Amino acid sequence: MARTPVIGGNWKMNTTRVEAQALLRDLRTRLDALAGVEVVVCPPAAWLGDAADVLGGSSIEVGAQNVYWEPKGAFTGEVSAPMLVGTATQVIIGHSERRHVFGETDEATNRKLRAVLEAGLHPILAIGELREEAEGGQTEAVLRRQITGAFEGFDALPGDLVVAYEPVWAIGTGLAATAEDAQERCAMVRRILTERFDASSADACRIQYGGSVNAGNAAGFAAGADIDGVLVGGASLDGAAFEAICRAFVA
Ligand code: PEP
Repeated sequence: MARTPVIGGNWKMNTTRVEAQALLRDLRTRLDALAGVEVVVCPPAAWLGDAADVLGGSSIEVGAQNVYWEPKGAFTGEVSAPMLVGTATQVIIGHSERRHVFGETDEATNRKLRAVLEAGLHPILAIGELREEAEGGQTEAVLRRQITGAFEGFDALPGDLVVAYEPVWAIGTGLAATAEDAQERCAMVRRILTERFDASSADACRIQYGGSVNAGNAAGFAAGADIDGVLVGGASLDGAAFEAICRAFVA
């Protein structure tokens, strides 16, 4: 199954508005119409409108880093999926910082996933184990629990959903997984999806690796048969580095 690689840039809570506009313009110059990969830029919520303006008409898509599951109402500070329509096309759900800094549960992830799909947006579902879970041999059980929880009540694997396998110990630490381990874990995710749904939808699903990806190690991940792109944090704030990462996935 040929899967188009998808490269996501998660800016997290970084950039002033002026910095964001400059980076967006730089990314447009570098990456617009790059063939063979899908590029998604996820700036902070405050700059999503700027991203839609600067990247409008280009091949670069805009993603949100988070969403709330209710469509509207008295939820001060939250942004709903219907509100994102028109600015973002993708939404990261279940990022480890949401899970471990803000205490989001698998149930919350499930509700967000449903809200994003209902709004016609495309989820990037992030999963991954903590260091102590990896060291305790629990990686597969954790991934299985996160996948089971996220898809509670789903009859089918949504077609335009990306799964980002991001070991928590590799995020923002500079300690990326080896290309071999990342490939093995992404294959594990695909196996779990096959068991939960079916082989053909799991085979069609794009699975990213995330965790300290940079311009130097991206090619190793690109070589993995089950690695269909990367989710990039720190290096996505550097236009040249992000361009190099995207180009590493161009066949
Ligand atoms: C991330 O934020 O999803 C991430 C993988 O961060 P970093 O690339 O900085 O490790």
